[in-house]
Amino acid sequence: MPTKERQIRLTMDELPKRWYNILPDLPEPLPPPLDPEEGPSRVENLPNLLIKTCLGQEFSTDSWVDIPEGLQDLYKQAGRPRPLFRAYGLEKALGTPARLYYKSEFYSPTGSHKVNTALAQAYYAREEGYERLATETGAGQWGTALAYAAALTGLKCTVYWVRAVYRWKSARLAFIKLLGADVHASPSMQTECGRRLCSVDPDHPGSLGIAISEGLEDAQNDPKAAYSLGSVLNHVLMHQTIIGLETQKQFEKAGDYPDLMISCLGGGSNFGGFVLPFIGDVLTKGKKTQFIAAQSQAAPNLQGEYKYDFADHAEITPLLKMYTLGHQTSMEPIKGDGLRYHGCSPILSLLRNKGYIDTVAYPQDEKHVFENTLRFIRSEGFLPAPESAYSVCCAVDEALKCKETGEEKVIAFNVSGHGFMDMEGYREVLGIEDASMETAEATA
Ligand SMILES: *Cc1c(COP(=O)(O)O)cnc(C)c1O
Repeated sequence: MPTKERQIRLTMDELPKRWYNILPDLPEPLPPPLDPEEGPSRVENLPNLLIKTCLGQEFSTDSWVDIPEGLQDLYKQAGRPRPLFRAYGLEKALGTPARLYYKSEFYSPTGSHKVNTALAQAYYAREEGYERLATETGAGQWGTALAYAAALTGLKCTVYWVRAVYRWKSARLAFIKLLGADVHASPSMQTECGRRLCSVDPDHPGSLGIAISEGLEDAQNDPKAAYSLGSVLNHVLMHQTIIGLETQKQFEKAGDYPDLMISCLGGGSNFGGFVLPFIGDVLTKGKKTQFIAAQSQAAPNLQGEYKYDFADHAEITPLLKMYTLGHQTSMEPIKGDGLRYHGCSPILSLLRNKGYIDTVAYPQDEKHVFENTLRFIRSEGFLPAPESAYSVCCAVDEALKCKETGEEKVIAFNVSGHGFMDMEGYREVLGIEDASMETAEATA
């Protein structure tokens, strides 16, 4: 019998002490990064850019990688382990026979799961003698997470933030500055690449591809600086398995096991972190769990082509074998901005290609996504990040299917972050502003 508890908690002693590396368990070897036919070798340049330990982990053949004690301590400082909730409120609101559980990455101090890899990368960078981290950010969650990790480990941090987003996310900008990082609207005057673009248009709106190029150029020109990436790469997904490993222990405690696991997917780090330990159970222990990645029709990269492509717009990275929409494809803006990326991580792409991962893409007006999420907000009381709303939306749809079939399916979904600093999305898409005005008038 599954437990009736509303919250399944782990003690601090139960914090996982190793990450799970799925590479050796994959059904076939992961295609390696490659160089394009023309230009300098991107693969050979990787050691000049990435933190050495992370680069080693990228190709590790060990199934388990120890989490250093100092880093376990930082995870605890960031509030780990995080609870798994049984969604009794949502079950009742939907009238579903399904058992719904959700993982609470929204308890992260910066508001997203991205601290799990930011802390690991900052920890290793400091160990290797670096003094500064350079990176890009689009939606802003990654920049905030890295600024936070740099602050806790005593490193400096430089963030290149896509100008179009930098302009309107003023609360998040203030937070990054409070954490002590240098933030530049990108393209900036700090780099050759930025200066070139600014000379043409001083008010250039920027793009994630341009911001990546600035971060890479910055790190390349300063031997004391390392470049950090917040998603897509193997080592990033491995750091994030802390989410799924905790969840596994929690299901064990609960006396239950998921039939279906759901999360949103941009580059794949929160989805991978949540499900990879369970996919390991499917690959090595004969479990039968289904996995669904929730995306936007603005960037349905899992429905793209499975081929070698660059990870960035400016073609600085090696070619990665992944599902991609094309590295220079333009994508419509959505409030779940963190899901707007052209490619899916190579590990998840391979698993998708072998039939282990299903996907759904929601209309880009985001109405269905936020309306479904409203049912969660009003029954569970947590405010998901706009990206996490896709995960919640998919869980609601699946739970409603169970209502029709009467199936007591166990559904687990990950809520990758909170939406306190991204309220505009809900406001605009659901027209909340008008509603609150009416109420204010009615009570006046
Ligand atoms: C960045 C982000 C995402 C999307 O990135 P993934 O690498 O696919 O996880 C999802 N949710 C939140 C809260 C994010 O900050």
